[in-house]
Amino acid sequence: MSASSWLRYQLMVNGLGLAALRWQRWQAERRVGGPSRWKDEYLAPPLKIAPRNKELVARHWLQGRYANGYRKVAWVTSGAPAELLKALDFYVLYPENHAAICGTARLAVDIASEAENAGYSRDICSYARTDFGTVLSGKTPVGKLPKPDLLLTCTNICQTVLQWYRVLAHYFKVPLILIDTPFVYYAEAPDHAVEFVKRQLDEAVPVAEQVAGKSLEERKLKEVARLSKRASELWLEIMERNRHRPAPISVFDEFIQMAPIVEMRGDAVTVDFYAALLKEVDERIARRIGAVKQERKRLLWDNLPIWYRLRYLAESLGEHGIAIVASTYTNAWGELAPLIDPERPLESAARTSIYPILNRGTGHKLATMKCMIEDYGLDGVILHSDRSCKPYSVGQIDQRDRLIHDCGVPALLLEADHNDFRCFSEEQVANRLAAFVEMLE
Ligand code: SF4
Repeated sequence: MSASSWLRYQLMVNGLGLAALRWQRWQAERRVGGPSRWKDEYLAPPLKIAPRNKELVARHWLQGRYANGYRKVAWVTSGAPAELLKALDFYVLYPENHAAICGTARLAVDIASEAENAGYSRDICSYARTDFGTVLSGKTPVGKLPKPDLLLTCTNICQTVLQWYRVLAHYFKVPLILIDTPFVYYAEAPDHAVEFVKRQLDEAVPVAEQVAGKSLEERKLKEVARLSKRASELWLEIMERNRHRPAPISVFDEFIQMAPIVEMRGDAVTVDFYAALLKEVDERIARRIGAVKQERKRLLWDNLPIWYRLRYLAESLGEHGIAIVASTYTNAWGELAPLIDPERPLESAARTSIYPILNRGTGHKLATMKCMIEDYGLDGVILHSDRSCKPYSVGQIDQRDRLIHDCGVPALLLEADHNDFRCFSEEQVANRLAAFVEMLE
């Protein structure tokens, strides 16, 4: 690392950047904590912790902006075992998270168009197109993305990521580590499948060490795994608090508050953040504050969020007293917590890499949804049929029919795309939601 890179990082990230973000947070907290100007008739005010989350996420992207030359950078997929890279002090960047930020800011279509103009098909996942668009044009709401020194992808969420990261490796001319996870057809993955992934992780270590320019310390890896486990446990506890009536937070809150568990898993600040969020959620329960003020009906959400319409959906349902209180998507970042064993970090990384919901059969997702309907006392289900995410959407028509038949709850298939608002028909969605609300009555 050069002296100028070090100085630039300290000044822009730990000096000026930190001060500016603290100031913004302080101002936002004063607004949240001051006399309530919240006028929404149907929804609770934002969580008090929201400014802290915003600061945490902004700081993460600021660190990335100045990372090149200061520390090594790895781009990874959301289901990849990133703890290994954290323990080697990589700055870990999740292009899917960056794309979600672009989606929430309604910039994804403009950015993805850069990729489409370069020849990438609109049939490719909109996260990948958003990422390619940023790489090709430099457009991003977070300032600047650092170039990767290493890429890590894992096929446990889809096969798109395999092609996506091959394109990135070719473009940036950096090593690509691919972790291939056998699909889990039954309740338990066979031992040889876990061993197969573990061997790939063993082989990945020297590649990552070479790029990092240092050796992996077992003590450090265990500590990162311990922090990952603790943050995942807290996240799971937070979601499970929604078994209370009224639900203290909605799934729309969860979609926003889940950013640290995805992109800062393994950091101590993430554990502190979720401990504080849990405390606030418990305060809401004690004061009987519901995310929807007059909660009458409770729903399950399946698949990715529709990032550019979170507010619209929360309000459209909230005015009818309908709260979405559980989701298979946010659950995916908590349900594997029990599998993390900090004392055997690589073996448990192999195990947790195999079990994500997208690496299992559609029957498993159906069973998960049925359990959630029971556990959270739900009255219906919205299945977002996501044009981009084929592996998450496959089987949803059958799942909808089975939920209606087996659980006796109404279920709605809502066609959209998580990032590409050209696939979202306002009128059609409004009509379908109105009809669904009537069915719930
Ligand atoms: S296809 Fe689905 S799982 Fe794959 S990158 Fe896109 S959103 Fe993620």
